[in-house]
Parts: sequence; C-alpha cells; structure tokens
Amino acid sequence: MNYQEIFQEISNELKGFDEIGQVATYIPALAKGNPNKFGMYLVTEEGHEYAHGDTEEPFSIQSISKVLSLVYAFKLVGTDLWKRVGVEPSGSPFNSLVQLEYEQGIPRNPLINAGAIVICDILISQLENPYDDFIRFVRELSGNPNIQYREETAASEKECGYKNNAHINLMKSFGNIDNDVEQVLDFYFYLCSIEMSCKDLAQTFMFLARGGKNPLTNKRVLTAQETKRINSIMLLCGFYDEAGEFAFKVGLPGKSGVGGGIVAIYPDQYSIAVWSPGLNSKGNSSKGIKALEIFTTITQSNVFGPM
Ligand code: GLU
Repeated sequence: MNYQEIFQEISNELKGFDEIGQVATYIPALAKGNPNKFGMYLVTEEGHEYAHGDTEEPFSIQSISKVLSLVYAFKLVGTDLWKRVGVEPSGSPFNSLVQLEYEQGIPRNPLINAGAIVICDILISQLENPYDDFIRFVRELSGNPNIQYREETAASEKECGYKNNAHINLMKSFGNIDNDVEQVLDFYFYLCSIEMSCKDLAQTFMFLARGGKNPLTNKRVLTAQETKRINSIMLLCGFYDEAGEFAFKVGLPGKSGVGGGIVAIYPDQYSIAVWSPGLNSKGNSSKGIKALEIFTTITQSNVFGPM
C-alpha cells in the first residue's frame, strides 16, 4: 500500500474541510495553540514509517496520557484495578460529575477525568518516584529519551482546575482516593502536560498493535489478554461522548486529547497518530477525526472486518 500517496490524498481532500473547530481555551496554556498545525504519522508492523506535515513538533498530549497511566497501573496492580474504576462507556463529557455521584465515587472508566485521577492515586500509592518512573516508562515505549512534562501547562491547568478538584473531592468523600488530593491532582496535571510529537505517539502506541510487545526493545509490556482489555477500553471510551461516532466512522481503538492529538491502532498492522489542534464541540480534534475516517476508508482497515 502506498501510504505516502494516501497521506497526500487525505491532505488534498481536507483542503475543502471547513469544520476546523477551536483550540481548547479552558486551559490557558493551550489557548496559544496554532489551529493550522496538521500532522499524520504511521508506523507499520514491519517497522516502516510514513510522515506528513507537522509530525516532529511536540504538543500537549493531554488525555492521551490516560491510556499510558492505565497501562502502567494495570501492570502494577492487575485485575484489582477494576475494583476502583469501571469499564463502561460514559456517554457523557470527559469532565462530567453527574455519574460519579450515582455510582458512589467509582468512575465509569479510566479514560474520563475522574477515572484517570483514580489511576494517578494508584500510581502514587505504588511507586516511590511516580514522576520519574512514569516518564521513564513513556520514554522507553517511544524510543525518545527527550520526552518531558511541561511545567507551564501543568501549572496553567492547576490554576483553573476547579472541575477536577470537584471530581477528586467527591471521590475522596466516597473513599475512592487514598492519598492527599492535592498530591494526586498535581500528578494528574503533570501527566496531561506531557509533550510528544505525532511520531512519538505512533511509536509509543505500537505495543498495543503488537499484542503487548514493545517492538523497539522486544520487551513485553502487557500480555495479549491484557492488551485486548486496553484496546477494548479505547474503542468504547477513548473519545468521551463521541466514542460511538469514532467507532462508526473510523472503526479503530484510539484516544484523543484536548491538545488536538489522536492516536489509533489497527491490531497486527499499524499505529497512526494525527494532530490538528482545532476541537469539535465534544473536545476531539475535528480535522483529526476526518483524516482518520478518510484513511481507514481508503485503506479498508478497521477492526470490524474488511469492507
Ligand atoms: N487535562 C485535561 C483536563 O483534565 C484533559 C482533558 C482531555 O484531554 O480530554 O481537563
């Protein structure tokens, strides 16, 4: 398959796409983003790589980090994890508080804010140096030793993180947060602030397309069965209240972030990352979703079988 040509075709088709959306403004540091950036990066099972556009520029991965923290916590505590967080799609916005009250402080899934905050609590309880250990884990998956947290973004989010404060306090009141709330939230904001490029993201998520093995080191990160669980959570919960639409249009497990990034995987075939900071009303990259929809249509690759 000539992926380079396909990328060009997508780019041509997107020229007429005018639903660019708006950069996230509720985190002041993200409001400075340039909505005209666009990158696509593909890593295949055979290790071939294809780039188009702004693929080397690091951006704020935001909620995409929720998959990586979930994987790390799952490795550490195994199935005990599911006592603290569910695996059901929420059908609600990523920062909605409504279900949390009904469900006694157990978040619906680990990819909404409340779920990711519980995962941070688990990591803090399990790790002596959570910040160092986590970034080391991400660097090893990506093969890029320069990946960093961005303090400025974390601080900016902390300043106006009222909703996340509400989430953690509500969960603490139900007994689902063990550590100090400020310590846990600070860690959460740092995870969201990690900066990666499309290239880093596509490479990092490749282990989820390879049954749990990091192709760069050949080390097993997860078992095949654990990998299935993470991929199914991405498919059902990776795009907040637009997860159904993403599965409907694109047909791959993936995860988005309010920095405009999306990463998706096709088991045994490839990992693909897209970046376009303009978001739709659900907080997902508008052009990014369209690009992936065109990509899986042209390549006829989706987890529901060939067309
Ligand atoms: N840091 C963001 C928040 O907590 C992450 C949201 C996202 O990327 O969906 O609101």
